[in-house]
Amino acid sequence: MLMRVLRAPRSLWRLGQNHVAAWRKRREPKGLILLYHRVAALESDPQLLAVTPENFDRHIALLKTLGTPMHLSDMIAAAAAGRLPRRAIAVTFDDGYADNLYYAKPILQRHAVPATVFIATDFIERQREYWWDVIERAILAPTPLPDPLILPFPEGPRQWPASGDFLPAPGWSVLSSDDPSPRHSLYRALMTAINPLSRDQRDKVLSALVTAAQIPEEARDSHRPLTRAEVVTLAEGNVVTIGAHSHHHPRLSGLSAAEQETEIDTGRQRLTAWLGQDIDTFAFPYGNLDAYSGETVSLIKRKGFVLSCSNYPGLVRGDTDRYQLPRLLVRNITPQALQNLIIESFDHLEPGLRA
Ligand SMILES: [Zn+2]
Repeated sequence: MLMRVLRAPRSLWRLGQNHVAAWRKRREPKGLILLYHRVAALESDPQLLAVTPENFDRHIALLKTLGTPMHLSDMIAAAAAGRLPRRAIAVTFDDGYADNLYYAKPILQRHAVPATVFIATDFIERQREYWWDVIERAILAPTPLPDPLILPFPEGPRQWPASGDFLPAPGWSVLSSDDPSPRHSLYRALMTAINPLSRDQRDKVLSALVTAAQIPEEARDSHRPLTRAEVVTLAEGNVVTIGAHSHHHPRLSGLSAAEQETEIDTGRQRLTAWLGQDIDTFAFPYGNLDAYSGETVSLIKRKGFVLSCSNYPGLVRGDTDRYQLPRLLVRNITPQALQNLIIESFDHLEPGLRA
């Protein structure tokens, strides 16, 4: 009995110590990099890439109340120097959709929140839609398709039944548990079949798909890339910094070292030529940990980039590898949901990969 009485204060003391440690850990300076793709109100967004302008405006306003928004390069320099604010937040965009200029930039400007936009340059030069958007346009629409739909794959023609009607299903995405019409299942099947192909193979399949669905090759205004002139306009002022995202947006891990080097160099050279300034930041296309390799990371370092971004959840600290920066993908969620996500992330996410 006596022992128990004596033990109580000690366990209380220990409990207090744990609280102090947890409190200290929470107060530790950390950085969070957010990843967006598009700011647009789309009727159909099966890959969940777009945030509506209304939500984006409220997201950006919120960041200032939750932490310290800063330029990505400044965050990484501050982390290395041990001068990171308690909750540093950097906004990034991938790919180079035109809506980044018309919807995202004015909102960023109004709130004086900076962002880095990583641009794949072939997308800009060809003025065609990204392959995932072409599939959406051909399949998730009431346009008739030949039945069966026959497409030229490298191993030979493959075919899918395509007789079913398309039923519009606002809000449907690849994360939905059911498919409201056969077209939605067909969309999934084609995404899975086309995703692993090389660029040449994919172009062949897409070209046949465009012919079969009788859709124009020109990009829809709602899905088009920035033009070169628009890339320049996007970079004007202090709000948006442009970063490289390769030329053709390949999975770099699937290429030889020489091919990777060409992809990295070409994308960077094009941007440098258009903007008349050096480009020193990079984001790996797709960005998940199997979309690039150790060889890719070495190349990026050797070419003098100051940082490169991946796409896995994690926090930035002083010892985080600045060549494999973690990023938090942001969907079209309410400001309240984003607030919860950010606070949760700062409190519970693990630090990114160490250098
Ligand atoms: Zn991308």
